[in-house]
Amino acid sequence: MNYLRRRLSDSTFISNLPNGYMTDLQRPDPAEPSPPATTALAKSPTAGPTPPATSPAPEKKAPPAQSSGAGFFSSITNVVKQTAASAGLVEQTSVTTSKKFKILLVIDEQQQEWPKLFRGKKIYGDNDIKVEQAEFSEISVMAQANGTCSVTMQVYRNGTKVVRSFKPDFVLIRQHAFSMTQNEDFRNLIIGLQYGGVPSINSLESIYNLCDKPWAFAQLINTFRKLGADKFPLIEQTFYPNYKEMVSMPSFPVVVKIGHAHSGIGKVKVDNHSKFQDIASVVALTQTYTTTEPLIESKYDIRIQKIGADYKAYMRTSMSGNWKTNTGSAMLEQVAMTDKYKLWVDTCSEIFGGLDICAVKAIHGKDGKDYITEVVGSSMPLVGEHQSEDRQLISDMVLTKMNQIAEKEANAPRKPLTVQPSQGTGQKGEITGETMKNGAARPPQGCLQYILDCNGVAVGPKPVQAN
Ligand code: ATP
Repeated sequence: MNYLRRRLSDSTFISNLPNGYMTDLQRPDPAEPSPPATTALAKSPTAGPTPPATSPAPEKKAPPAQSSGAGFFSSITNVVKQTAASAGLVEQTSVTTSKKFKILLVIDEQQQEWPKLFRGKKIYGDNDIKVEQAEFSEISVMAQANGTCSVTMQVYRNGTKVVRSFKPDFVLIRQHAFSMTQNEDFRNLIIGLQYGGVPSINSLESIYNLCDKPWAFAQLINTFRKLGADKFPLIEQTFYPNYKEMVSMPSFPVVVKIGHAHSGIGKVKVDNHSKFQDIASVVALTQTYTTTEPLIESKYDIRIQKIGADYKAYMRTSMSGNWKTNTGSAMLEQVAMTDKYKLWVDTCSEIFGGLDICAVKAIHGKDGKDYITEVVGSSMPLVGEHQSEDRQLISDMVLTKMNQIAEKEANAPRKPLTVQPSQGTGQKGEITGETMKNGAARPPQGCLQYILDCNGVAVGPKPVQAN
């Protein structure tokens, strides 16, 4: 206890906390729900035996600003209760607040600062937007068939471990959901978000489908068949489901692409039969598929990107002479968007139910011909001088989608609620018990946050306020 007090009175510790947490720590503990509401919840068939309020009741008088020792104890008790609840050790209370903010989960690296792009923005009327940003490796997802979806993120911010649980209203995915390199398979999280019905850019369905390059290439083959080689010059490719099939030799030189990985990983240039056999023996250890393509004598790589209705085209020329222009040094230049490029990217953006953000990759050969090699989705890295403009375009698109969803929700017929008679006034911010049709408790819609110091000691759970 004294240790916790010392930590909070330590100015270095406080100043190291991320923005906003200082105020959270100094804010009084959340007020308990008013006694009548608590009683009503306890009577509810779905309410648990211990109904901790997850959001302060606005009508309640705030306790003194400095937390007392008892406040610390109740904070820690709440953490234990919430942790136990999320682990299924205790029943979760069916408490919800009529919040005035929407939670946007952005899955991206920390250095890409998405929250500032949404600062001051409103969703459908006067809902604030609260941005939670984390990498795939920092989150876990729990979803239930009744529409419940809880994301827990554990992030280190300025040396402090911050743990938060919340139900995202929308998710923007800017990281690759899958790579066969170690610890980079996050498809289970995509499944969890889809299971929980979280709307997303790009669609979760398309993200899942893009997790195997040959699966996506199969879609490009359909486009190639529809448009023909003149309009859609797809590279020749051969698919081997495993090493055993790698007995039929391609014509050399070829590029062997092993499994699903990014940044040039698993791509090997092979000049002759014996090297191909060597590579097949390596593939035998990987337990995955392989594709081969003719090695194109490349002049430059082409990338045509589409973010909503915005199109940009780039060419990338290797400076270091590496056959992979994404390895070593390369020069990137923006080039004019032509009708040809627009057709490529427009048709590719239609696959898997539509890609809001996508790019088509191609190689321009020394023979003057183009060879389309791949389509990538919303995890595509932004390139060139216009990255901040592109980020803005993405955030505008997210806002538009979130607005559409919020408007639809607001106009949808209300779901039946187990509202407690006499206590419910329908006031904003009031705590009300809510029961799903199937009798399951709807989890808190607000955002729970508890901060652990570097020793893993909880220093207080707080309902998170809107940005
Ligand atoms: P990224 O993650 O950057 O998209 P990746 O892992 O998907 O890369 P590819 O784009 O398939 O890998 O290949 C990497 C680079 O190798 C390409 O940018 C291109 O320069 C070169 N390359 C790929 N396929 C061929 C080919 N068939 N012929 C010649 N060069 C090729």
